[in-house]
Amino acid sequence: TKEKFDAIVVGAGMSGNAAAYAMASRGLKVLQLERGEYPGSKNVQGAIMYANMLEAIIPDFRNDAPLERHLVEQRFWIMDDTSHTGMHYRSDDFNEVTPNRYTIIRAQFDKWLSRKVCEAGGTVLCETTATGLEWDSAGKAIGVRTDRAGDVVLADVVVLAEGVNGLLGTRAGLREMPKSKNVALAVKELHFLPEEVIAERFGLTGDEGCVIEAGGTISRGMAGLGFLYTNKESISLGIGCLISNFAETMERPYALLDAFKRHPSIQPLIAGSEVKEYAAHLIPEGGFNAIPRLCGNGWVVVGDAAQLNNAVHREGSNLAMASGRMAGEAISIIKSRGGVMDKASLSLYKTMLDKSFVVEDLSKQKDMPSLLHTNSPNFFTTYPQLISHAAQNFVRVDGTPKIEREIATTAAFLRARSRWGLVSDAVRLASAWR
Ligand code: FAD
Repeated sequence: TKEKFDAIVVGAGMSGNAAAYAMASRGLKVLQLERGEYPGSKNVQGAIMYANMLEAIIPDFRNDAPLERHLVEQRFWIMDDTSHTGMHYRSDDFNEVTPNRYTIIRAQFDKWLSRKVCEAGGTVLCETTATGLEWDSAGKAIGVRTDRAGDVVLADVVVLAEGVNGLLGTRAGLREMPKSKNVALAVKELHFLPEEVIAERFGLTGDEGCVIEAGGTISRGMAGLGFLYTNKESISLGIGCLISNFAETMERPYALLDAFKRHPSIQPLIAGSEVKEYAAHLIPEGGFNAIPRLCGNGWVVVGDAAQLNNAVHREGSNLAMASGRMAGEAISIIKSRGGVMDKASLSLYKTMLDKSFVVEDLSKQKDMPSLLHTNSPNFFTTYPQLISHAAQNFVRVDGTPKIEREIATTAAFLRARSRWGLVSDAVRLASAWR
């Protein structure tokens, strides 16, 4: 007879590891499949990791997790071609005993979290791709087929944690392929610099870290953002825009990253660095309206595969960890009650998710993705240019009376967007943010 597991988890990224750990640590017999050579080998992230969501899984993670820097400063930049207008928030409060956010390098972090899954009793099989779901005659998922000599592995429930373009769920008809307007393509480089150079350039001490989120003409009118995150001895630099925008504009992602690197506000921060890694990855950005069915008979879907990603706040790994943990906890509860893993019982996972920050946050800003998508030239080119122009007008001193400068700034806004356009953009932005 075939060996049967309580649960099979497909994927060893943030969501899969959280689900596998939640179940294995509660005594369930868990098999986790990862197509990469090792957990993390296929995964790309900025990456900011949010401590609370990891703490809910492994409370003492700070003892041995591979963490780069804890963040004390966050900069938000609105850029035109030669300048940036910024809002910076830096606080010594973030030098707390249990810091709130860290930069991480996913290849190392995922390996560590996967080791925790093994220590908790889970079985992790790498270089193994799940190629299809196995169903019984009543339409319940009972396991997966893998690329290992046509092997079928059986389980009471399958957790689909296969990431944004997870083919298993779409092939099985559990959800559609994400639409191009709901997915961003991000490219990223790792720039190596000595630790003391990073500390000096960003005003950091010890393992303090700083990140920059940037929007503006760098995305050439497309809906997208750039980012710069400080690690211990490297800087993660990247930019991502919606795939539908890339298709319309025929812009090349790498050309965008190249221009971002050469921007006069970015170039001095990475000067002299050695680029050692280049990666490209998709990010689900459709928000609440793009969330597919989350569970069915014998299956649940978590993390990026379920489009659980907050593009407005640049959060993904925390939603992945939280949803994976909740799926794992729900399955453990059903198991402990001796229940069947059918759609009705697995909806406990959806109930838990609906009550959490994950769905709460995504539903709050459910209209934001489509607003940014349909209005991208205004939000990502016109306004950044106007704001840069206004900021320069405000600080430049050349004998022109202030009142003339203020009139010129107002006129520039009215010329570019008209009074009606300005009011309607403000109203739409405010109501989408609500
Ligand atoms: P993934 O991490 O993608 O993991 C899926 C795993 O499943 C992979 O290991 C893959 O190899 C495996 N897999 C897929 N199919 C199969 C199969 N059939 N069989 C076996 N294995 C399979 N989030 C943040 O919180 N902060 C950030 O700063 C941030 N920055 C980002 C920057 C970039 C450039 C990108 C691309 C994303 C960023 N995100 C960030 C988002 C974050 O990376 C994701 O939300 C998170 O990784 C989702 O985790 P996941 O486990 O659902 O999916």
